[in-house]
Amino acid sequence: MTTITLVQGDITQQSVDAIVNAANSSLLGGGGVDGAIHRRGGPAILEDCRRLRASHYGKGLPTGQAVATTAGALDARWVIHTVGPVHSQSLDRSALLASCYRESLRVADELGARTVAFPAVSAGIYGWPMDDAARIAVETVRSTETAVEEVRFVLFDERAYEAFASQVG
Ligand code: ADP
Repeated sequence: MTTITLVQGDITQQSVDAIVNAANSSLLGGGGVDGAIHRRGGPAILEDCRRLRASHYGKGLPTGQAVATTAGALDARWVIHTVGPVHSQSLDRSALLASCYRESLRVADELGARTVAFPAVSAGIYGWPMDDAARIAVETVRSTETAVEEVRFVLFDERAYEAFASQVG
């Protein structure tokens, strides 16, 4: 049974086994939560990312997939990087956003992580409307078979927190 918890705050400050990064496919860093994770976690994360690019993901990590690295100086043991879809008015990319949550939980299971923190993937620079991003996130976690005991959604501001709270009920 996976318990969903909600926190308003900064994901880099969470004491959990793994935190999920809303990365871009280059895995080489970006803005938003990605920038914060690399800043706080230090260079070890980027070193792992560079190794992954060289060994497995020459063209970058595809949208909807997930891969783990060290968490460097963060409290967490691992960072699970996933690439959310850019929101589109004309194409329905919800399945790719759902895949980010499912694949991140699959990687967490492989690692043996029992507590996992997620940001609102795609709901920042990638433009996904927060209410819909929250619905997809919560529905997908609820319908995914996993040994993860706690999924903690860490929402940066009050509006995001409220959007997730209204889905969790
Ligand atoms: P994406 O490119 O997938 O949209 P962003 O990092 O731009 O990713 O935004 C995803 C969500 O993460 C947004 O709601 C943003 O406000 C939030 N966010 C940004 N920094 C942090 C942080 N340090 N901790 C938790 N959430 C954050």
